[in-house]
Amino acid sequence: MQGQLGLEGIPSKLVRVTPARLSTWQLCPRKYRMNYLDRPTPSRSGARANATLGAVVHNALRAYFDLRADQRSPERASALVREHWKSDGFADPEQAADFRGRAQEWVRGYVAELPAGETPLAVERWVSAPVGSIIAEGRVDRIDERHGELVVVDYKTGRFGLQISDARDSLALGLYALAVRKQFHRTCRRVELHHLPSGTVASWEHTAESLAELRDRAEQLAAEFQRAADELALGGDPESLFPVRTGRHCSWCDFRSHCPEGRQAAPDLPSWSALETG
Ligand code: SF4
Repeated sequence: MQGQLGLEGIPSKLVRVTPARLSTWQLCPRKYRMNYLDRPTPSRSGARANATLGAVVHNALRAYFDLRADQRSPERASALVREHWKSDGFADPEQAADFRGRAQEWVRGYVAELPAGETPLAVERWVSAPVGSIIAEGRVDRIDERHGELVVVDYKTGRFGLQISDARDSLALGLYALAVRKQFHRTCRRVELHHLPSGTVASWEHTAESLAELRDRAEQLAAEFQRAADELALGGDPESLFPVRTGRHCSWCDFRSHCPEGRQAAPDLPSWSALETG
């Protein structure tokens, strides 16, 4: 992947930072350690239905944009959801079928609203570029080209709608915009969250200043987790370097079976509990 990205010559001290690493560190340093540093990686809990649902929708939309423009239609998009469907984590076949139908409708309605024949510049594109003291990288759901500028698009399938502040304050979207600017040598200011269940878009137009603020925040977090990792490698105490941060999120943590504090802090919930079942 690096060869494709032309990263030769980057000093090795730059820390690779993905949005997932940042969010995991912010959520719980112990989870970060188990996910990214402990080897072998501790066993994870089983699949969760909401994650399966999100993956299916992402895969269907990727396949949709892989089609020639004249082969795309709302019906084809709906059929792609069916073709990519998985039932991992759902309560039973009935619940899975219910959500497969919902996802088909979400995707059908979503593509019906897209400008006819619009083809993104890139879909599910891995981006990676030096940004300040870090290498910002990750897989962008979609990069659109509009009015001569590039736009970062991220799909969401959660049960809650999104606010403008979700797009404005998103470290993930900010990092993607910074990496896209560097990698494509193009202007990229606009970031968008596309919420499939409600068919709404939360968007934000960054300035150089607002992107610099997000970059500073990412650099600060990266410095924190890199410092902790370096001290751990030198024999530091894992519990103090990577403290637990308990909360409701512990109910959905992949590593709760290895974490007594997390199990005490939040109840074990079924794998379909994050779905909108009403
Ligand atoms: S269960 Fe909670 S406290 Fe434990 S590792 Fe997971 S997120 Fe952290």
